[in-house]
Amino acid sequence: MRLTFLGAARTVTGSMHLVEANGARLLLDCGLYQGRRAEASARNRNLPREAVQADCLLLSHAHIDHSGNVPSLYRAGFRGPIYATHATRDLCRVMLDDSAHIQEQDAQFLNKKNRRQGLPPVEPLYTAEDVHGCLRQFVGLGYGTPFQPAPGITATFLDAGHILGSAAIVLDITEGGRTTRLTFTGDAGRPNTPIIRDPEPLCGTEVLITESTYGDRLHSPIGDAEAALAEVVNTTAGRGGKVVIPAFSVGRTQEIVYALARLRAAGKIPAVRTFVDSPLSCNATEVFRMHPECFDEETNALLEEQDDPFEFSRLSYVRRVEDSKAINFLREPCIIISASGMCETGRILHHLANNLEDPRNTVLIVGFQAQHTLGRRLVEKVPRVRLLHQEFAVRAEVRVINALSAHADRDELVAHVRSAGPSLRQVFVVHGEERQSLAFADTLLPAGIPSVTVPFPGVQHEV
Ligand SMILES: [Zn+2]
Repeated sequence: MRLTFLGAARTVTGSMHLVEANGARLLLDCGLYQGRRAEASARNRNLPREAVQADCLLLSHAHIDHSGNVPSLYRAGFRGPIYATHATRDLCRVMLDDSAHIQEQDAQFLNKKNRRQGLPPVEPLYTAEDVHGCLRQFVGLGYGTPFQPAPGITATFLDAGHILGSAAIVLDITEGGRTTRLTFTGDAGRPNTPIIRDPEPLCGTEVLITESTYGDRLHSPIGDAEAALAEVVNTTAGRGGKVVIPAFSVGRTQEIVYALARLRAAGKIPAVRTFVDSPLSCNATEVFRMHPECFDEETNALLEEQDDPFEFSRLSYVRRVEDSKAINFLREPCIIISASGMCETGRILHHLANNLEDPRNTVLIVGFQAQHTLGRRLVEKVPRVRLLHQEFAVRAEVRVINALSAHADRDELVAHVRSAGPSLRQVFVVHGEERQSLAFADTLLPAGIPSVTVPFPGVQHEV
């Protein structure tokens, strides 16, 4: 068997790994690379030939850094089956549609500039048509249901506990009469994350490809998050301010809504108006409602009592632009949950522009903020920021709750790797900034794993 790490090797985004075994080529994930514009564009537009020529694609989950380049793969000629859990397939539908829209808008914007400078026009990375094409290739499967993506290879999705539908991909590969279990963690979640189930153990894995996003860090206990959220809402509402929460449309938005519903039901926060202001977040929440088979026991118990976990009084899901604009004219405390999660695009920019300069308000950061993003600058407490072509003084309070991370921290990741048991002989550490991946590899070596590698992109490994 041969492994080639085509993306998310010594970096976080662009997840893409190739497994060659038994004469078949299986691609694991096909994510968008996110970073500086020119480099991202070059990487995303020039997919490796071996990826396009793969026989099939298996997707770990719907986050765009894992699935966002599937339409490019289709555009480049890939026509194999795309295996994913049912919820991942449904989430990909809304996320890839949204992504195509962004790609088309980006190209339009660039072409306006190019025309002025006499430069030739650029094509969007992909279009809605490519998205519809690739969606026809999807095959939805349940967790724990073995299937044969290629002769001599049995695949099974385990719950990764990261976002709705997220999976670790287990491959039992039989070559020359011997079967090897190769597992790809996808993104590994934290135990006790609200709504979804905990990550399943990786029993019997011999070769493991593991993520390492937080390979050198520890998070606060998950139970702290609700109390911290209540404190922020109470303090801000107490001084007549608004709480603005940039949140990823899939996962974080629903977790915040769920936590607010519980706090409201327990009388721990006042009944202020609350808005989920992002069409993608509204669509993603609809997909959550369609997939109770992914929920944990607590959330299913709520459903049995006929409580919708994503509704409470004075909560509005906002789709129309006019309704979004109307929020700015509210003169009372409220909570605004909007996207994008790292404050790079979308309606969150308008809410920040309208609320950053008022010291009564709070910007609450609840997710990972990558380098060079506006969200990261807010976390770093810079006094002024530039957005929507204007400069703003940051007078609002900026608070951070990191307990809601969708990724396991260092110790949780070590426990997850160890859940493979004594069969584990080789680990490849991917999906982390280089420093995190190397630090995590250093943590694993003393844990008694014979071989730990932080692979370089494009290098082939025989295992
Ligand atoms: Zn993810």
